[in-house]
Amino acid sequence: MLTGIHFLLTYTCNWECDHCFLFCGPRAEGTFTLAQIRRILEDAKKIPTLEWVYFEGGEPTLFYPILVEGVRIAREKGFRTGIVTNAYWATCVEDAKLWLKPFAELGLEDLSLSDDEFHSEAEQTPAQRARIAAEELGMPTGTICIERPTVERTGEKGAPVVGGGGMLRGRAVEKLTEGLSTRPAEELTTCPYEDLESPGRVHLDPFGHVHLCQGLSMGNLWKKPLSELDGTYDAAEHPICGPLIQGGPLALAREYEIDVGTRFVDECHYCYLVRKALRERFPAYLAPPLVYGLEEESMEPEG
Ligand code: SF4
Ligand code: SF4
Repeated sequence: MLTGIHFLLTYTCNWECDHCFLFCGPRAEGTFTLAQIRRILEDAKKIPTLEWVYFEGGEPTLFYPILVEGVRIAREKGFRTGIVTNAYWATCVEDAKLWLKPFAELGLEDLSLSDDEFHSEAEQTPAQRARIAAEELGMPTGTICIERPTVERTGEKGAPVVGGGGMLRGRAVEKLTEGLSTRPAEELTTCPYEDLESPGRVHLDPFGHVHLCQGLSMGNLWKKPLSELDGTYDAAEHPICGPLIQGGPLALAREYEIDVGTRFVDECHYCYLVRKALRERFPAYLAPPLVYGLEEESMEPEG
């Protein structure tokens, strides 16, 4: 039951974090136009269970006027709204209030601030300043904190476990897996974090991909409207989700005879590598290339 859609307003970001699931950065391209947002929100009204519309990225505030207008349209259509931002713009509390005021006036219900050691090591982080500003404006805030994955030894036997955030996907796989403890592929038989059978929320990107998980697409909404995609989605028929639901990344690798190794940090690490190996076989479902650290193909958004 789809209750939330998250616009990846842009893949561009002022930062280029090692842990980014989406390979966002200053050179990453792909940004929604207002006309595209309007068209999707118009169609989204046909999904009766849909309640929330989020705007994230990349860094959505890099396209500030589009972001404000996107939130306004979503509110006008009766949706609850949220934003996820790294708050780079919060140079001081007074200025941060200027950035946030339009959203406070529009009744934004969730301002999620990325605040962690990856994002800033300053004494008072931009996210902390943004939080103070938001509180002074009476806005509800949440904080997304992603810890660096580490190898720890715990328990009586001192068994190595992955500490901090697991769930390694995207650039995190390329940058952060070294030195982490691993598990055999045979143990990785579930998808622990996403409800692929009946997704509660999806991420939409400017190329039309409807992400069930980063780089795993339900279909393309420039070819078939989101309301129709959602209404006709059958996970068992989906060539990637079907095996993942049956038996996690191990089943996916076996189904298509993919060998990307024998030990992995976690399910997502294995899943990401298998999906990357399958990308050319299923380009409509494993997209866009950017999310797999690849830049070939036209990156021109449609729609
Ligand atoms: S994790 Fe967030 S702040 Fe970092 S590059 Fe990705 S989108 Fe930008
Ligand atoms: S196992 Fe795969 S589909 Fe499931 S959450 Fe991890 S990366 Fe996403």
